[in-house]
Amino acid sequence: MTAGLPSVAIVGRPNVGKSTLFNRIVGEQAAIVEDRPGVTRDRKTLEAEWLGVRFDVIDTGGWLPTGGELENKVSRQVEAAVREATLVLFVVDASTGITDEDESVAVWLRRIDKPVLLVANKADNLRRETEMWEFLRLGCGDPVPVSALHGRRAGDLLDEVIARLPQVETVDDDVLTDEFGEPIDLGGAKPPRVAIVGRPNVGKSTLFNRLVGEDRSVVHDLAGTTRDAIDTLVETEDGPVVFVDTAGMRRKSRIDDSAEYYSMVRALRAVDESDIALLVIDATEGVTGQDQRLAERVDASGCPVVVLLNKWDLLDDAEQRADITSQVADKLAFVGDSPVLKISARSGKGVHKLLPVLQEAIEQYHKRVPTRDVNRVLAAAQQKQPGPHGAKVMYALQGANDPPTFTLFVNKELPPAYVRYLERSLRDAFGFGAAPIKLRFRRRAE
Ligand code: GDP
Ligand code: GDP
Repeated sequence: MTAGLPSVAIVGRPNVGKSTLFNRIVGEQAAIVEDRPGVTRDRKTLEAEWLGVRFDVIDTGGWLPTGGELENKVSRQVEAAVREATLVLFVVDASTGITDEDESVAVWLRRIDKPVLLVANKADNLRRETEMWEFLRLGCGDPVPVSALHGRRAGDLLDEVIARLPQVETVDDDVLTDEFGEPIDLGGAKPPRVAIVGRPNVGKSTLFNRLVGEDRSVVHDLAGTTRDAIDTLVETEDGPVVFVDTAGMRRKSRIDDSAEYYSMVRALRAVDESDIALLVIDATEGVTGQDQRLAERVDASGCPVVVLLNKWDLLDDAEQRADITSQVADKLAFVGDSPVLKISARSGKGVHKLLPVLQEAIEQYHKRVPTRDVNRVLAAAQQKQPGPHGAKVMYALQGANDPPTFTLFVNKELPPAYVRYLERSLRDAFGFGAAPIKLRFRRRAE
């Protein structure tokens, strides 16, 4: 058992298929399976993984609510497993319906304050699946059908399982400390990390100072993780934000070409550690080739982008304004639905709109969509426009967030145009805005 992993305990009366399910989940024949009550008596724990989420699975063996010595012992072990567990899979047998023993288990589980997922096993075919609604009567929530033996719907069950496990934080969750090593209390809020990137002289430092210099905001220098990198925590009216040090922004002295180059390299590295990037463009110069390359690099890091057209105060000609707007649409098309803001860092005009847009973009990045909604949207999209040559998505789910990543189970390879159509459907339905979304494909027989 790996310390710190969430654990999933499989419970239920004997012979419902707990060991079979355990094996199915851990993907190997690790527990002893036998068609006789109470054979797998020992608690067994193995590590499992689904879509990158790791957890321990505990097979609890038989659970007999009444009777002699042995049964008491088994049930103590089960109690222990359940007490330690993050989630309990309560397994029932869809081929037999509810028994008295199932009811006793249900009563016992309802008393224990743990999240329970009711699993209707041996749902080997559709008919059994439709009958499983009987199990609602147990008062343990909606039964999830599965056939542990044949693997039918095992993926769906695992989706349900990981959706109920606590999200493992990928970002360093240490307490923030200031430059004196004193902890900074943000009342539990976890500030998003923001990188400001752009070519030299587009106005990054001016913007940074503007954001940091706003009235009523509290500014802390954070203890740097790398030598001479100093991140800045700003407590704003819209919540705390960490501006990742993108070199030169703060103490800009004279910068020669090579220093400029290294500050760019470092800025891009900062993007990889950020939740969002602000791409600053000098509106008086339009979108240059260098802006495009920078944007491509930021986009490739999977980081959502907000495009800032700075120095807007210098554009007084309507034609010039229209021109830069269309340049963004043409030359930065790949950043898709990223918000584009017109600002003047120098005068502060438009800068107040930035923080709310940032917060929203960050939320989209962390968003999770329930599996049934993903499938509903894809089914509708496919009905409207079926895939070419019988290609179709049979099932899909959001396997990860940060950025939102969808796994699509397909019968054959989908052509790129159709992939873009499906991606667009998901985007429109769930409003991912600036967040880049990723699609992964798995082939599966029909
Ligand atoms: P446990 O006592 O709850 O651990 O149950 P086991 O995993 O030992 O399974 C009991 C019996 O049910 C075995 O014969 C399994 O092969 C069978 N079984 C388990 N899962 C399924 C299933 O999904 N469908 C069918 N038809 N039989 C299953
Ligand atoms: P950086 O190299 O991207 O950090 O750019 P700076 O913040 O140093 O700005 C470069 C020059 O552009 C400075 O002279 C700024 O005063 C000027 N500048 C920055 N933002 C604006 C703006 O919104 N409007 C105008 N007119 N000038 C700006």
